[in-house]
Amino acid sequence: MYSHDAISNRRRSRSEPTEEMVAGLVCIVCRTDYRRAPDAVTLVVAHHSGRQLLACEGVCARMAGGAVHSTDEPPLPLVERVHRYEAEH
Ligand SMILES: [Zn+2]
Repeated sequence: MYSHDAISNRRRSRSEPTEEMVAGLVCIVCRTDYRRAPDAVTLVVAHHSGRQLLACEGVCARMAGGAVHSTDEPPLPLVERVHRYEAEH
């Protein structure tokens, strides 16, 4: 049910983060699913509704503006992000 919303969000506006982005489960630039890439190094590059938006360290973070608006905030651990996401869905 939620995936339909995610798809229409994506069609309506590219700048609107999907639920998985807001949950910090995917890179907001290349959409790598961190649940399938648990070793990926992530940076907090933005916030949305008080949640962290993450991008891969390097090119993605730069494209997301992470170098400009860099926060020193560490991302929540992946297990915690997955846990929260699953608790909400
Ligand atoms: Zn990425």
